[in-house]
Amino acid sequence: MHNELCPCGSQHSYSDCCEPIHKDLRSAQSAESLMRARYSAFTKGLVDFLYDSFHPSTRRFQNKRDIQLWATQSKWMQLEIVKASQHTVEFRAHYLNNDLEVEVHHEKSNFKQVQDIWYYIDGKLV
Ligand SMILES: [Zn+2]
Repeated sequence: MHNELCPCGSQHSYSDCCEPIHKDLRSAQSAESLMRARYSAFTKGLVDFLYDSFHPSTRRFQNKRDIQLWATQSKWMQLEIVKASQHTVEFRAHYLNNDLEVEVHHEKSNFKQVQDIWYYIDGKLV
């Protein structure tokens, strides 16, 4: 599906947007592009990518089963980037919960670059 729009809402095709990052974490050029790729990965249930894009300092507290539950039990609808700086991204992710009610996950996330690779460290609910 070459013309599939990227789930992150960039209006670019998936193959030109988040897919290269899903294939190689080094393709993320900024904290925002990694954030977008993580959102897209949630919509696609790419658990390994979500796990691997955690910074090593916080990855050890993650487990793939929890990530998978969070990714697949919610129906992800839309990503809205509120504000992005070099190391932080504030975003709102709209999703349907198990009761099919719209919920918004509003988070300010921290990112860090290690040897030219961007990683997600953690986030605070806003
Ligand atoms: Zn994208």
